[in-house]
Amino acid sequence: MNKADATSIDAIRPVREGLVSGTAGDPADIRLLGSRCVSCGEVSMGTNEVCLNCGSDRISGIELASEGELWTYTIIRHKPPVGYLGPEPFEPFALGLVELADGIRIVAPLDGDVDSFEIGARLRLKPWILRSPDGQQYRAFRFATFSS
Ligand SMILES: [Zn+2]
Repeated sequence: MNKADATSIDAIRPVREGLVSGTAGDPADIRLLGSRCVSCGEVSMGTNEVCLNCGSDRISGIELASEGELWTYTIIRHKPPVGYLGPEPFEPFALGLVELADGIRIVAPLDGDVDSFEIGARLRLKPWILRSPDGQQYRAFRFATFSS
């Protein structure tokens, strides 16, 4: 990636505020953001101001693990009716419940052939620049197997 591309990457918004980092100028630097409650230790996805477990406002921002295990998954074969930002024409994709090394389970799109996934597979975070049909770009993520 040349320097001009790096500058443009910095300007790309996250797919959801507080969900992914990535101001380092390289999509490979995208990380999942999370929160850890100082009071009870609960870890959650995204930056939160209040603990989802105990209600405490003593929260620390953290980077979540970039590796995990496929807990279960489903295949989305129809275009979601609201908020879909993916490619047009729609292509079926797998949506996984991934247990991160942090111990939390998150819902995340899976990168790869929809018929190739197996429960229990080791997965890695795969940073992704999502290009919506209207031309917007977003810092996003998927999970992929280590062999893909
Ligand atoms: Zn808590």
